[in-house]
Amino acid sequence: MQAITYYIPMLSDNQVSSLKWILRKPHVNSTCIGCSACTAISGDVFVFDDDGLSCVQSLTNYENRDVDDSIAACPVNAISWQETNSDGSYKDGIVEHIDV
Ligand code: SF4
Repeated sequence: MQAITYYIPMLSDNQVSSLKWILRKPHVNSTCIGCSACTAISGDVFVFDDDGLSCVQSLTNYENRDVDDSIAACPVNAISWQETNSDGSYKDGIVEHIDV
């Protein structure tokens, strides 16, 4: 029987972070009530738009822990991770403030 050898690439932290950004980023749906919990926890990621709703900044990297803390703190479960295309847009035509 012939042994099968697998190659497992070693990635740096920056490479892993980049891949995570390509694969997913936070999303805010229409249930946002503008309570500011997410902007207080992660002001680099979440900002308010003119309507007082939280929006996700376009970043090359999202701090997973800060986003996870914002997800946990959101009183209406408006924040989630969503898969993205390679250009950073959400997959399947999803846009901000649309329920998914
Ligand atoms: S924590 Fe939730 S409800 Fe509050 S501003 Fe952020 S997304 Fe909106």
